[in-house]
Amino acid sequence: MSATRPVADPTAFKDNARLVLADPVLRRSFRGAMDFLMDKRSAQFPDAEAFERLRGLGERVRQHALAQLPDLLERLEANLTANGIRVHWAENAEDANRIFLSIARSHGATRMVKGKSMVSEEIELNHRMAEAGVECVETDMGEYILQLDDDRPSHIIMPAIHKTKEDVARIFADRIPDAPYTEDVNELIAIGRQALRNLFRDTPIGVSGVNFLVAETGSLVLVENEGNGRMSTTVPDVHIAITGLEKVVEKLEHVVPLFALLTRSATGQAVTTYLNVISGPRRPDEKDGPREVHLILLDNGRTQAYRDERFRATLQCIRCGACMNHCPVYARVGGLSYGTTYPGPIGAIIEPHLLGLASTRDLPTASSLCGACGEVCPVRIPIPDMLMRLREAARHEAPSAAGTPALKGQGAARTIGETLAWKGWRLLYAHPALYRLFAWIAPRLRGLAPATRQDGPGRARRCGRRAVRCASSWRSGVTGGHRADREQRRRPATEMRR
Ligand code: SF4
Repeated sequence: MSATRPVADPTAFKDNARLVLADPVLRRSFRGAMDFLMDKRSAQFPDAEAFERLRGLGERVRQHALAQLPDLLERLEANLTANGIRVHWAENAEDANRIFLSIARSHGATRMVKGKSMVSEEIELNHRMAEAGVECVETDMGEYILQLDDDRPSHIIMPAIHKTKEDVARIFADRIPDAPYTEDVNELIAIGRQALRNLFRDTPIGVSGVNFLVAETGSLVLVENEGNGRMSTTVPDVHIAITGLEKVVEKLEHVVPLFALLTRSATGQAVTTYLNVISGPRRPDEKDGPREVHLILLDNGRTQAYRDERFRATLQCIRCGACMNHCPVYARVGGLSYGTTYPGPIGAIIEPHLLGLASTRDLPTASSLCGACGEVCPVRIPIPDMLMRLREAARHEAPSAAGTPALKGQGAARTIGETLAWKGWRLLYAHPALYRLFAWIAPRLRGLAPATRQDGPGRARRCGRRAVRCASSWRSGVTGGHRADREQRRRPATEMRR
């Protein structure tokens, strides 16, 4: 990868994308990785009908959970508490980091080991803890590589997908004491594992994300392949889990179709190596496990998405990453270009709720609207529709329906010219006398209408005049000529029916 990296700022999306597009090595590695993931996924769904049935089930499970989200969250909290898990509610990233810090301080901890968690990226846990003097060490191999190189994830499932094996060899040789330079992938993994292994034993707090929360049993379900998630949640004395509040499902049996869809869609595996179900801290007769388990439930804009019917389906997401793998824009510009925690189509529909539309308004436009993301989404989120709604919301200030909270930054993409034009239009329509004056003046100003070389001045004047006439007849009504015109047009069809 080139020396200059894309910056973590969604307003720089276009500049970031230009930077990546000019880097042939990066483009090649993204293209190769996306082709590989798409092939693996499609091999797991050989029967289109069976896939659609499973998708339908996954969609219903997620919609069923969201339809009763407030009740399920109450049940979840009651059952988690009964199981001995302490529940914390965080309205935003600041709250969540404060909770992490207060737990760390109460145990005198200066280090945490962390399994993979995109929500912890969302709150910038590592940086906030470092500022407060607590080291947070990544134990997922991809995240560990990125942390050593002070880089960011470019994919939600495979965070270091933009790194080549040569990159990793150099990073390990430079940053891990006594590590030799090798480009053998198995040797590199062994070096990383060895460096991490002792940390689990010597660190008092383990951090993890959560894939699903089960309300009826008060359980946290974690899906992973490397075993570092299980180590982070069982070896340290304290386990802190963090996740978005939309991850709840009602029953344990509801996890089954979601798990089947998640692993197949994400990595093309029928099952993952580990499926952890955590239902409380270590019991008196048990020999291992944490003595304390905490769950932080993060809102951070999710309630706003939930309350707006146009965007609620965004919360159905199970974070499989399939929409990214199949997106022709993501496959070319890569995850770092988006400058957000969640890149690609899922990022384009969720980040406006987390950060507001003012800074993320370019993301919903980063799509060809080919529909591939919607077709592969295992829980049938209508992503292209969402992208269109967000594009519209970026240009219009008013929320869609009475009582619906406005999306933060709604209308941010509207230019000053557009704002003035719409204000002027509203003024004319509110005052008939003003409108009549406008209709009288406008044709007399047609000489000022711009003439293009191709069309010639006569054509431009005719177009200008026609536009004014059309606007005038449309407004007035709609009253006269226009209605008559419509009747005229309708007649043949009516007569034909007779
Ligand atoms: S939007 Fe759908 S395809 Fe994309 S990450 Fe979420 S569940 Fe997967």
